[in-house]
Amino acid sequence: PCLLRLRGVDIAYEDGRPAVSGIDFELHQGESVLFLGPSGCGKSTVAMLCAGLIPEAVEAKVTGEVVRHPSLDAPGAVGYVFQDPDAQFCMLRVDDEMAFGLENQGLARAEMAERIRGSLAQVGLAGQERANHAVFSGGMKQKLAIACALAMHPRLLILDEPTANLDPLATRQVFTEIARLARAGQTLLVIEHKFDALLPWMDRVVLFDAAGRVHRAGPTAEVIREE
Ligand code: ADP
Ligand code: ADP
Repeated sequence: PCLLRLRGVDIAYEDGRPAVSGIDFELHQGESVLFLGPSGCGKSTVAMLCAGLIPEAVEAKVTGEVVRHPSLDAPGAVGYVFQDPDAQFCMLRVDDEMAFGLENQGLARAEMAERIRGSLAQVGLAGQERANHAVFSGGMKQKLAIACALAMHPRLLILDEPTANLDPLATRQVFTEIARLARAGQTLLVIEHKFDALLPWMDRVVLFDAAGRVHRAGPTAEVIREE
């Protein structure tokens, strides 16, 4: 099904200046979509709207048509991984950090433990439940942030420049994880400047221009060929 449909959407923050204008965008279940464009062109703004964070958590004026599938409104239905994982961690131990989000889903303890075990294994952090993530490398922290989101079984996972603060090796590890998720049919919205290695795994690309408009959008091969 269609999870999200935006038609002629404008978003302006409090200063009133439009951050993005005239955005048309559709996201279907199982698709992976890459947002590209210069810094400040509004990629995060549109992603946050897709996540339901605008205007709930971040104040901004939204006009135009926004249709979100009702399944996206359940707790944890949209996972959002930011470029700085430390900014979103609030517990010290890995399992406590992961349980923090799961508690809002009202899961039984055994189910929570199983989700934590399974998600850590998925991202290559098997057995790290009792570790303190402060000692993790940047790549491990970002994989933990992805595991936290995956444990919620999100219908949509948004990765917003997940490798911005990572070295090349950690970047490769995160890209491998994104490829695995895309192959597994996870619906993905990815913002990433170092996108070459990701292109084979992305179904569609939305290319923004500096003014916050969609410059080009379509199947990955078409958009990249025409640029
Ligand atoms: P990006 O790496 O996506 O370009 P930025 O560094 O522009 O991100 O923004 C980092 C954070 O600062 C984001 O949470 C964003 O919402 C916020 N932010 C960016 N521009 C402004 C602004 N003009 N006023 C207030 N907050 C802003
Ligand atoms: P990108 O993700 O492409 O770097 P953003 O969506 O972060 O772009 O930002 C788009 C525009 O909106 C920028 O001009 C930025 O400064 C502005 N902006 C982002 N967040 C905020 C905010 N919280 N308050 C005011 N302006 C913001």
